[in-house]
Amino acid sequence: RGRVEFRAVEIAFDGRRGPTPAVTRTTLTLEPGTFTAIIGPSGCGKSTLLNAAAGFIAPAHGEILVDGAPVRGPDPEIGVIFQQYALFPWLTALGNVDFALRRFGFSRAERRQKAMAALAEVGLRGQEKKFPGQLSGGMKQRVAIARTFAGRPKALLMDEPFGALDAQTRGSMHDLLSGVWRAHLATVLFITHDVDEALVLADRIHVMSSGPGRIVESFELSAARP
Ligand code: ADP
Ligand code: ADP
Repeated sequence: RGRVEFRAVEIAFDGRRGPTPAVTRTTLTLEPGTFTAIIGPSGCGKSTLLNAAAGFIAPAHGEILVDGAPVRGPDPEIGVIFQQYALFPWLTALGNVDFALRRFGFSRAERRQKAMAALAEVGLRGQEKKFPGQLSGGMKQRVAIARTFAGRPKALLMDEPFGALDAQTRGSMHDLLSGVWRAHLATVLFITHDVDEALVLADRIHVMSSGPGRIVESFELSAARP
């Protein structure tokens, strides 16, 4: 569960002289439970590729499949985390995680117990009743991670999730994400322009280059991991 396949994907945007490709000839398989990073300079097409996997935009050519089914739009089984948190500001940390659990048909008490456990897993025990506006950037992203994993996603797409955080907070978020990923083994696609971040987190890295965006090199790092 959680195989993501990009097959000869091309994504274009309307430009002044007609459709302009932002991503071209991208074929890539994310095996279930792997952690893949895509690195490359700003504007090379990383976010565009991720947004297509999330179902926010449609490829002009080729297809993206999750467990064999074409992506046709946003799907609650595909988690997405952005740099800007995207928490519900009117809900507490607990309420935000609870929201992701609603589609499973748990009782209120079960949802509460699972949401509390998910927040404890990301180091937010005691912070459950706080609203996003009362939390630091790192803590907000911890809530987003708890919310996403609580929803038992087939795959998790992360677009520069720690880009707004200071270096020290980023370091603690890397440790946290590695631990949570190992515990859940969801398929992760992680976009970053930071090579060190990709090396610390991922078990495979694809390098994208621009004009138009495509993958020019791929590395496997899994041998170095337990
Ligand atoms: P990255 O994530 O690597 O920084 P993006 O995927 O955001 O790159 O952008 C890739 C290219 O597609 C850029 O040239 C960008 O200007 C263009 N682009 C991205 N989104 C749109 C859009 N909604 N409309 C038109 N062009 C876009
Ligand atoms: P981390 O995400 O690793 O905890 P942060 O820099 O986000 O790192 O926060 C460090 C600590 O500072 C937090 O654990 C929290 O106790 C406190 N803190 C920072 N900013 C806030 C805030 N806006 N509201 C409440 N506590 C905060």
